[in-house]
Amino acid sequence: METRANQHRVVVIGGGFGGLATVRGLRDADADVLLVDRVNHHLFQPLLYQVATALLPPGDIAPALRAVLRDQKNARVLLGEVTGVDAQAREVKVALPDGSFRLVGYDTLVVAAGSTDSYFGHDEWQKVAPPMKSLAHAVHLRSQLLRAFEVAAVTEDPEERRRWLTFAIVGAGPTGVELAGQIADMTRRTLRGQFRDLDPTQVRIVLLDAAPSVLPPFDEPTRAHTRRSLERLGVEVRLDEMVADISEDGVVTKPMQAGDDAPSRHVPARNVIWAAGVKAAPLAAELARATGVETDRKGRIVVRPNCTLPGHPEIFAVGDMINLNDLPGMAEPALQEGHYVAKVIRARLAGRYAPKRFRYLNLGSMATISPSDAVADIGKLHLRGTIGKIAWALVHIAFLVEWRNRIAVLVEWFWFLATGRRAQRIILEPVHHPGSVEGDTRASA
Ligand SMILES: Cc1cc2nc3c(=O)[nH]c(=O)nc-3n(C[C@H](O)[C@H](O)[C@H](O)COP(=O)(O)OP(=O)(O)OC[C@H]3O[C@@H](n4cnc5c(N)ncnc54)[C@H](O)[C@@H]3O)c2cc1C
Repeated sequence: METRANQHRVVVIGGGFGGLATVRGLRDADADVLLVDRVNHHLFQPLLYQVATALLPPGDIAPALRAVLRDQKNARVLLGEVTGVDAQAREVKVALPDGSFRLVGYDTLVVAAGSTDSYFGHDEWQKVAPPMKSLAHAVHLRSQLLRAFEVAAVTEDPEERRRWLTFAIVGAGPTGVELAGQIADMTRRTLRGQFRDLDPTQVRIVLLDAAPSVLPPFDEPTRAHTRRSLERLGVEVRLDEMVADISEDGVVTKPMQAGDDAPSRHVPARNVIWAAGVKAAPLAAELARATGVETDRKGRIVVRPNCTLPGHPEIFAVGDMINLNDLPGMAEPALQEGHYVAKVIRARLAGRYAPKRFRYLNLGSMATISPSDAVADIGKLHLRGTIGKIAWALVHIAFLVEWRNRIAVLVEWFWFLATGRRAQRIILEPVHHPGSVEGDTRASA
């Protein structure tokens, strides 16, 4: 489809679950659709932890946006970060990869910029407790986890060795649970025979949360099952404990219910991973400034029932960055909102009746614990163990974008189940010391 001078211009910011669903839903619309993203791929975040634990290669969960949209003639892709919105002029300002800026005009704007990590006012913790939100984070975490075992293998001081073999995960939601289970499995099955003196009992995995249970959105028997399964894998589950400090030496926690003078507890650990709070992407604040709309305490835009911004029927927002009936920050609401917004835009362009409010169909929640155990709460159906794992695997394969990735992930999973091996054990950064041949030119002079 060729772009005409007077064609309706739809600009979609963000090629994640919500943004991509909107663009694809506009495939037959008489509109010029421009998708702007600061990364060149669509990231399937639910499988990020499998990249971080060396099971899947990054490309299997992150197809290029240009490849995904190759057959959609009315859609174009622009790699760039949106840094400003001018709601009066109907323009967004985009920082381009060559370092320049471009003003991009729109008739309809859809903002789907997602969320970012929240360190609850302690941004300094990010240096020692990295998050796992992007592909870059997951690849970095993979190096960090694998390196910890290598450092432990050459460390003679038993205390220090134990610190390198301690993995403290902050946040017992699905991401924390999944990471804890995978690290436990990696230790027991993948690495055991390969580090000749690695004793799995020396590895300590601590899962911390201020909440009184793991997986808070799930029903009580599912939570109890998850906790028991994690403990069977050797994970130490510590709940009702609030993180008071994180440093290179580990995590300090305080009991939730006790007063300020309650004694704190220290988990000595060289590996701390942040899997706790999230807040709206920074673009939400810019959008709120440009339009004068309200945000909630997580920085999310409070949208109207049809996902538009109050006073701006031409601007929609979807996904993790909005508050619409306080729906959870999950893939399914973002996807459904994206489909709905595309429907409204198509109806407006065709002069048809547009559905007045978004209705969410709750399809349930899932989380995986180990290679043979997952939990799924789907309405009244509560699946656990192997049957839960099968349901989990089917849903994740179905939701992955591109057939190539579905097949590649299935092959990796079968190979892993059969052998326990992880094919992606790459530490990207080489060992490097200032006095080494490469690091110090004097050494080779
Ligand atoms: C580790 C992890 C595991 C998860 N597991 C699950 C799960 O098992 N089940 C589930 O339902 N949900 C899960 N989620 C949550 C789910 O991934 C999100 O709810 C979903 O991705 C939200 O979709 P979205 O479109 O709002 O944002 P995203 O999918 O995050 O997409 C946002 C896009 O906007 C782009 N962007 C942001 N700012 C700008 C800007 N200024 N300019 C240009 N582009 C920009 C980003 O690059 C990104 O591509 C998980 C999340 C994480 C991090």
